[in-house]
Amino acid sequence: MLWSKTFIPTLKETPQEAESLSHQLLLRAGLVRMLMAGSYSYLPMGFKVLNNIQKVICQEMDSAGAVQVLLPALQPLEIWQRTGRDRDLGDVMFKIVDRRQRKVCLGPTHEEVITELIRVHISSYKQLPLILYQIQTKFRDEVRPRFGLVRACEFIMKDAYSFDIGQEGLDLNYQAMYDAYMRIFKRCGLRILTPEADSGVMGGKVSHEFMVPAKDGEDTVLACLKCSYALAPKEGAEDLCPKCAGMLEKVNAIEVGHIFKLGTKYSLSMGANFLDAKGELKPVIMGCYGIGVSRLISAVIEQNNDKDGIIWPDELAPYKVIIMPLDVFDKNVMSAAAKAYAELQALNIEVLFDDRDERAGIKFKDADLLGIPLQLVIGRNSVKDGLLELKIRKGAEKIIKPEGEALKFIKKRLLP
Ligand SMILES: [Zn+2]
Repeated sequence: MLWSKTFIPTLKETPQEAESLSHQLLLRAGLVRMLMAGSYSYLPMGFKVLNNIQKVICQEMDSAGAVQVLLPALQPLEIWQRTGRDRDLGDVMFKIVDRRQRKVCLGPTHEEVITELIRVHISSYKQLPLILYQIQTKFRDEVRPRFGLVRACEFIMKDAYSFDIGQEGLDLNYQAMYDAYMRIFKRCGLRILTPEADSGVMGGKVSHEFMVPAKDGEDTVLACLKCSYALAPKEGAEDLCPKCAGMLEKVNAIEVGHIFKLGTKYSLSMGANFLDAKGELKPVIMGCYGIGVSRLISAVIEQNNDKDGIIWPDELAPYKVIIMPLDVFDKNVMSAAAKAYAELQALNIEVLFDDRDERAGIKFKDADLLGIPLQLVIGRNSVKDGLLELKIRKGAEKIIKPEGEALKFIKKRLLP
């Protein structure tokens, strides 16, 4: 992609409305723009990152045996009245009366919708177990939308739901989802804490949160300094780890995932039953598994940055390589840059070509801010000697190599 053909409105100054580091970088690197408080447009770079995250999530969900669906955001309020959650969620729900005087809402989550689907279409133990998931836009009327994508009124979530004939099946599916989550967050370059947590408005007995330690995180977790033990503080005031007797420390964090063993909360209130092998009518046993997909972008930035900008993990980066010809009017520089661009594209490596007539200093600053993992710098002097300069964004290591070897280095790092 040529820089001049895409839309990357980077900012030199930090916007005043940005409250957290990730919010500042999202705006400065031209990933998103706010339309109104709590609702954001994804610009080309932000949309590419969002798609890369979704790709990782879908791969891990599919390999854990889940099947993708897409449920409606527009829902009848009546199904929420059956579980009583229209009251529990209160003003957080966006409620509308349509032209036929039907009460409808914009879904803040989808337990009711999916349970209704199962109630109508699952009737026998032979159809279970089943895990369905979707990646979809959700709506919450937040009192105070803030921190950019972290607390928004319109946001993207991955939500999965498991359906089993008994507790044993639920335990297996819960563990499979837990393991898939750990793989997803690892691929996103995140260090994560997983405290056992309160189930809150979702209901059920067992739940785990997936928390990303971050300076500006809204939540707090008590984390052991020695081992991986963590606990939601609201639950206790201990200062020693029950596992290893190490010190517990309070850390700020962003919640990026939450999984619940729901049991029969929804199937009982909505009548989602099946006939077991003996012909007895039983309620379906459920679990639900959420990931905040859009806020994951913020969490990744919170943990992967330096003073100059974002440092994307390779898998999430909007482009893997940025080619930076420092003099766009120099024939030799531009032909070396065009050659490297063609070769990388032929390998299906996503490349951004900075073809702007800008000073070298601006190109360097923008490239660091965007956080593309590899920068291929092409200047007049090095080209004369047949050399290319490669800068690795993470750690800022610079390598000067003959052209062929520089490309070999890129291939080795990016291709499987
Ligand atoms: Zn410990």
